[in-house]
Amino acid sequence: MPYVCILEVSVKIHEYQAKSILAKYQVPVPKGDVADNPDRAVEIARDMGGSVWVVKAQIHAGGRGKGGGVKLARSLDEVRAHAESIIGMTLVTHQTGPEGKHVKNVLVEAGQDIQRELYFGIVIDRATSCPVVMASSEGGMDIEEVAADNPDAIMKEVVDIEVGLMPFQARKIAFGLGLSGKQIRKAVSFMQATYKAFIDSDSSLLEINPLMIDGAGELIALDAKMTFDDNAMYRHPDILAMRDLDEEEPSEIEASKFDLNFIKLNGTVGCMVNGAGLAMATMDIIKIAGQEPANFLDVGGGATQERVEAAFKLILSDPAVKAVLINIFGGIVRCDMIARGVIEAARNLDLKVPVVVRLEGTNAEEGLALLNDSGLGLIPVQGLAAAARKVADVVKGA
Ligand code: GDP
Ligand code: MG
Repeated sequence: MPYVCILEVSVKIHEYQAKSILAKYQVPVPKGDVADNPDRAVEIARDMGGSVWVVKAQIHAGGRGKGGGVKLARSLDEVRAHAESIIGMTLVTHQTGPEGKHVKNVLVEAGQDIQRELYFGIVIDRATSCPVVMASSEGGMDIEEVAADNPDAIMKEVVDIEVGLMPFQARKIAFGLGLSGKQIRKAVSFMQATYKAFIDSDSSLLEINPLMIDGAGELIALDAKMTFDDNAMYRHPDILAMRDLDEEEPSEIEASKFDLNFIKLNGTVGCMVNGAGLAMATMDIIKIAGQEPANFLDVGGGATQERVEAAFKLILSDPAVKAVLINIFGGIVRCDMIARGVIEAARNLDLKVPVVVRLEGTNAEEGLALLNDSGLGLIPVQGLAAAARKVADVVKGA
């Protein structure tokens, strides 16, 4: 079974931030504001007026409704009570993992008169390299469930990036959603405005679930999720400023300081590899050998001893790591330099897990000699398949 790894790094933002971007494109969103304390939450509700408000936990994960992070309030006292209970809570949803997420802020919004909950999304499709607009009348709940149980309920329109979302495509979706009369025109402008927000911001995923219809027939983005292609963020300082580092994986933040391409995964074999392609192959072969990688890590072609040390420290800081596989093909990078980085890091850290090393290419022999002479008990192996089998054996024995 080949390993399927999504290596695209995406920048995430909160719901209230996504709604602020959408609002700039005239996508209708409920009135509201964000609060980090109950007094402010009450003030927002009072200033907005009305008689029903919604208090929503702001975390980088969905499923908040089911997890108790979205609450309806029918008085200002209830707004306060909900804000008090949600701010500071650890919210567990199907997307947060069992440890949950600490809630720092709530979005306080004017309550809506919901008649229908639809689903609307835009993603970049890997197969066609085009944006795909998706919609379903089964909104509000997990779209993954709909996709699995009733895939025909999701409509898709592939968009030609040169021409954008054509009105006929938007109309087709609107009809498919069962809309009629004036709603068709409203839905078309909703979709085109959303599509423009998606393209302009270099978004990789935009999800409005639910897209609601109210009693007056208006379409409103009741929830909003946007992620962005991190390679494009140099031209979006405003979006980059919306990043909430508390929501991100600490090891990945640390890795970015050293320009390491690092993604934490859930297995037990730590991987240190140079080159993204070799890193992928290494993850595949670990999986074929019956184990799971604990991370993806590409130390890069121009790795320095300092970066190798930082990388090794990162891998070892993960308590799930039971063994490490270092797989370096020395082209530009010299294997002896990698070996020195590993030895230095292993000396500075209290190395408790076995480390299997496969070095090939420039100065491989010198590197292996350094490892053998280090007295650190590193295990040199020749050949990638043999190295993967070795690390799998070591993990099983651990
Ligand atoms: P998620 O669970 O993290 O996806 O959070 P959502 O923003 O999608 O909210 C979950 C659910 O809360 C929605 O599907 C709605 O049913 C409900 N909800 C959100 N805002 C309102 C509102 O203004 N009025 C009412 N009655 N329900 C709301
Ligand atoms: Mg939602």
